[in-house]
Parts: sequence; structure tokens; C-alpha cells
Amino acid sequence: MNAPTVSAQLDVPFYQPVGSECELFEAAWRQQLPVLIKGPTGCGKTRFVAHMAARLGLPLITVSCHDDLTAADLVGRHLIGDGATYWSDGPLTRAVREGGICYLDEVVEARKDTTVVLHPLTDDRRILPIERTGEVLEASPDFMLVVSYNPGYQHVLKTLKPSTRQRFVAMSFDFPQPEVEHAVVVRESGIDAGRAKQLVTLAGQLRRLTGYDLDESVSTRLLVYAAKLMAAGMAPLTACRTALAEPLTDDADTLAALLTVIDTQF
Ligand code: ADP
Repeated sequence: MNAPTVSAQLDVPFYQPVGSECELFEAAWRQQLPVLIKGPTGCGKTRFVAHMAARLGLPLITVSCHDDLTAADLVGRHLIGDGATYWSDGPLTRAVREGGICYLDEVVEARKDTTVVLHPLTDDRRILPIERTGEVLEASPDFMLVVSYNPGYQHVLKTLKPSTRQRFVAMSFDFPQPEVEHAVVVRESGIDAGRAKQLVTLAGQLRRLTGYDLDESVSTRLLVYAAKLMAAGMAPLTACRTALAEPLTDDADTLAALLTVIDTQF
């Protein structure tokens, strides 16, 4: 096995660690293991991957998966130009050929045929057979596959098969504990520590709200949005309504319940 090379970049996106996830990711990278990240929307998965890619000096190719995404979208296809047909690498093939992290965000959304191309890349063969050209690509030593999904969205048809899951080392993410979330909100928005503390406390209260029809709760992303609106001069109540209540529900009763909690904090 060729060892991957590491050359750290200077411009590393800010990421506040929650535990030992950075060390874990780096160990997986050094051992050429694929990584699966589970966690709710807006809890820092994408930022973490961007941070680690920059830290390890790796190009990052991100694909936001959706229900029309096919294996050909990942691997590539023949295109027609100037009267001739030529092959165009897809994002996965580019990362396999040139090295770097290929990050498949919300991988469970993709069509099932995508797992066929992921399997031989996620065991010790590390190969990508390209059916349409007959090529069998051996992955660059610098290639790493990272996938994420939100178990909260999961329903029977949209889940990773055990045979696919078991090819990855898996890390669970969640909204960070208050001290970490506080540091994130201050750093990302520039609001003062006192206001950030109020927001983080409010997030805790909103996340504990039960008995309402909420698919998802307040994410760290939405908390940063509320803080940014405040930093831009919006009144806290307006900022919180716009960033922490309206995006979560269209139901009048649920909205009223969220606003009642917000009112107690601001
Ligand atoms: P996900 O990919 O889980 O949906 P993101 O990585 O896009 O979420 O995170 C949303 C936003 O939350 C980021 O843009 C960043 O502002 C903030 N964020 C969340 N967690 C962290 C963290 N641990 N360190 C730095 N920023 C964070």
C-alpha cells in the first residue's frame, strides 16, 4: 500500500472540534479507510470535511446527492463536441485519478446503482471499473471517499444497505455541546459572548420542545444565521423568528410554540 502524502494548506476553514473527530479522520486517511459521517442537517459535517481536507492539503470534491443522481453522474459519460465523442470524467473519477477527498453529501438520496461503483473503491482493491470505457482505475494513494447522511430523514427506501455501511468507518455527529456551540456562534458571526450565550441557551430550549410536528430542530447553522442577523443590526426577536422559527415549520400552532420559547429568552 502506498502511503498517502500530507501537505497542509494555510487556508484552513474554521472548525471547532467536539471530541477527537479530527484525529480519527486523520487516522482513517493515513490508513486509506473510507469514512461515513452521520448526523442531523446543519451540525457541522460539511465544514468538518472541508476543514480536514485543507488541513491534510487535499483537494475536495463535494457532490450533493439527490434522487436523480446516477452512477454515470459520479463516474462520467461520453459527450459530443466538434462532431466527435469524447469521455468526460465525473467527480468521483476525477478524485480517484488525481487524488483528493470525494465527499458524497446525503449519499442515501442517490440512485441505488451508485453503490455498485462505490463498493470496489471501499475495500482493499481500491479500484473503479469504468464500464463504458472498459478502464479499471486504481485509486491514487491520495484518494479518500467520505459520505454523509442524516439518519433523521431515513425511511425504509432511503437507507444504506448493511453491506454498504460495513465498508466504512462511521462517525456520529450531533449538535455540539453548549461551550462548543457558543465558540462557533461567536466566531462565525462576530456577536458578543453574552448574546451568543443567550442564543445557545435558547437553542437548547427549542431542541427540548416536544409534542409538536417538527421534522428537524434548530441547527447550529440556523443559530449562526440568527447571530449574523443580529450582528447586522436586526432586533433579537426578529432575528430569532426569521432564523430559528419560520424555517422549521409552516404549522401555525408549532410556530406559536417556538415563538413563545423565543419570547422568554429575548
Ligand atoms: P451539515 O453539513 O452537517 O449540514 P454544515 O457543516 O454545513 O452542516 O454546518 C453548518 C454551519 O454550522 C457551518 O457553516 C458553520 O457555520 C456552523 N458549524 C457547525 N458546527 C461547527 C463547528 N464544529 N465548527 C465550526 N462551524 C460549525
